[in-house]
Amino acid sequence: MHVPPIHSLTQTDWQLAELIQREAQRQHDKLRMIPSENYVSTAVLEATGSVLTNKYSEGYAGRRYYEGQQLVDPIELLAIERAKALFGVEHANVQPYSGSPANLAVYLAFAQPGDPVMGMSLPMGGHLTHGWSVSVTGKWFRPVRYDVRRETGRVDLDQVRDLARRERPKVIFCGGTAIPRTIDFPAFAEIAREVNAILVADIAHIAGLIAGGAHPSPVGHADVISTTTHKTLRGPRGAMLMSTAEHAAAIDKAVFPGLQGGPHNHTTAGIAVALHEAGTDSFRAYAHQVVANAKALAAALIERGFDLVSGGTDNHLILIDLTSKGIGGKPAAKALDRAGIETNYNTVPYDTRKPFDPSGIRLGTPALTTRGLTEAQMPQIAAWIDEVVSAAVKEDEAVLDRVAGEVRELLSGYPMPGWAPQP
Ligand SMILES: *Cc1c(COP(=O)(O)O)cnc(C)c1O
Repeated sequence: MHVPPIHSLTQTDWQLAELIQREAQRQHDKLRMIPSENYVSTAVLEATGSVLTNKYSEGYAGRRYYEGQQLVDPIELLAIERAKALFGVEHANVQPYSGSPANLAVYLAFAQPGDPVMGMSLPMGGHLTHGWSVSVTGKWFRPVRYDVRRETGRVDLDQVRDLARRERPKVIFCGGTAIPRTIDFPAFAEIAREVNAILVADIAHIAGLIAGGAHPSPVGHADVISTTTHKTLRGPRGAMLMSTAEHAAAIDKAVFPGLQGGPHNHTTAGIAVALHEAGTDSFRAYAHQVVANAKALAAALIERGFDLVSGGTDNHLILIDLTSKGIGGKPAAKALDRAGIETNYNTVPYDTRKPFDPSGIRLGTPALTTRGLTEAQMPQIAAWIDEVVSAAVKEDEAVLDRVAGEVRELLSGYPMPGWAPQP
């Protein structure tokens, strides 16, 4: 059954209700290992499914363009206060619709069209919105891109410094989508200070780890912190921009009226709930368990001869280069998905294959840790991954279906928030 229940939907639109039920069952039965995904709590689901979706609230608390904000104002202020307390920041804006619009607001606040802006190259682990060519951020600004070192798979800070000195970017982004290692915020801050650039820490992937004390914080180093709320932070799909008091007005003006109209109040409420949850001891334990699980899984994969970019992980994410296994990332990801292990194919640094058919897969432990799995299960997961990748090379589909059954059997002992099988 879906929790909260979807009785009315089932009556008025059985077709859609059935699709949702089937998606819930799919999320229940699979090892969801896409590192940007998670399971939100029932409380977050309830807040995001509430009547707050009915309300328009353009502007900010106390300065709205519509009447009837008696309750929306305190809801948004609660989310803001919780963000400030949790991350220890001077300012928070909880209105960005998602991570990409949040980053766009940063450009709007601190750069002019044509200005040099700097970020990690997408195929090295950066994000589209850090100035990649197909993104508006790479078209309307002049992107300067840094890489990771070929030998270590880690950010090349000497290159970052050299490029920054030469190109004088207005904004420097650190962080990304496929970085298995700790981000050195103090080193980036020193470079940004030297060239008078705004340093943006994009912590979309690791916000929950930072909140839970399992990754160093960019606070005190970055001028602006951009994050999604739906990855390790385990909230609804949304985003936040946090900053020092100095940049508060510029950030707020860029989000509204610069880029967006009315905030999604139901999302704001869900963010407030998630931030409340993220301040608890059990969330701290969760964040540390995510990292412990990823490290245990990395060790088990290395033992089985997998080639991990940078040789392991410090966080929630593992990037496997499958070249040595004789299979591309895409067929491997498809085989794993059929076997009940959901990952995504991904470029690896200096990939010799095309982005739509790259050499790697990216996987992580945030969602399976929410289900309650620990280090104890990681060797089994590595064994399944190994078995499935070998079976995919031989196109042995029977193995995939057998593993899918074994995964389902394991997960039946670990309830998921939001859905439970009929008793
Ligand atoms: C996920 C992510 C984003 C974008 O978030 P969306 O909500 O998908 O727009 C931005 N930056 C980084 C580093 C991300 O990982």
